[in-house]
Amino acid sequence: MSLLIVGTTALDSIKTPNKENPRLLGGSASHAAVAASFFSPVSLLGVVGDDFPEEYVELYKKHQIDLSGLEKAAGNTFHWEGEYEVNMNNRKTLETDLGVIEDWMPNVTSPLNEKAYILLANCAPQLQHHVLKQMKQPKFVVADTMDLWLNIARHELEQLLKDVDCLVLNDSEARQFTEEDNVVIAAQSLHKYGPKYVIVKKGEHGAILSGPSGLFIAPAFPLDSVVDPTGAGDSFVGGLVGYLASHDGDIDDNLRQAIIHGTVTASFCCQGFGLASTTTTTRECINKRVEALSQLVAF
Ligand code: AMP
Repeated sequence: MSLLIVGTTALDSIKTPNKENPRLLGGSASHAAVAASFFSPVSLLGVVGDDFPEEYVELYKKHQIDLSGLEKAAGNTFHWEGEYEVNMNNRKTLETDLGVIEDWMPNVTSPLNEKAYILLANCAPQLQHHVLKQMKQPKFVVADTMDLWLNIARHELEQLLKDVDCLVLNDSEARQFTEEDNVVIAAQSLHKYGPKYVIVKKGEHGAILSGPSGLFIAPAFPLDSVVDPTGAGDSFVGGLVGYLASHDGDIDDNLRQAIIHGTVTASFCCQGFGLASTTTTTRECINKRVEALSQLVAF
């Protein structure tokens, strides 16, 4: 089944204690689309400025990502600058320059508006909702978000959630959203905003799903070295939704496997700067790591 991903297509400047990397290909939609491409055909809806390097377009093409929905506009590409502490769990955003995405409200036309699986990757909830409202008959809609939108567009986010099947957010955002310290209770209380499924990401500690069949707990794949976790959350949700799109059937039957495949795809993302490691992995490597993870949790 077909998959549409909308979100940011960005240039990321990433500092870690060991290295500085300016203007790498990044953005929620870029990470998610490359991750999803290991499982399913994927169409990308996004906008870049006239500073967007051609080699990054080639990288999308290498993953057979459909770029008919990728617009080029006059101005700067979305630029995000982040810095990690020695403990890679702690990240500071140094700068977010929205560039050409600031006023971008795309018309979604056929065949893009006929896609069955929709990932509203992290971006302004107004933009996510604008895209979703143009979809003809989506089968399953997943939305990712972050604290920035909770802080500056909470009302718009709540409006969006009424039309979303699955919300993905990290643990601190779930706590902030619900004003509830306990992550399990926070996940469960997010259903009242609309989503039937809520997935709370906990970084190196995995993820929790709350849905109609109750809870599911997924560990993260243990890595002995993390180079750059930027985009891990986007890779997680991209892999998850790509897996679902390639296993059309009952969502409840497939969602646990989808979460594990998303988890493993995200682990590859953490092993290189930007998309460097994700883009060199293969479906076979992902499958091997899924098998290794299943052995690690067997008891
Ligand atoms: P993650 O590490 O999963 O939180 O994702 C980081 C990616 O999200 C980077 O590639 C950024 O370009 C992108 N990003 C950062 N801030 C935002 C934002 N406010 N909206 C959408 N994407 C963002």
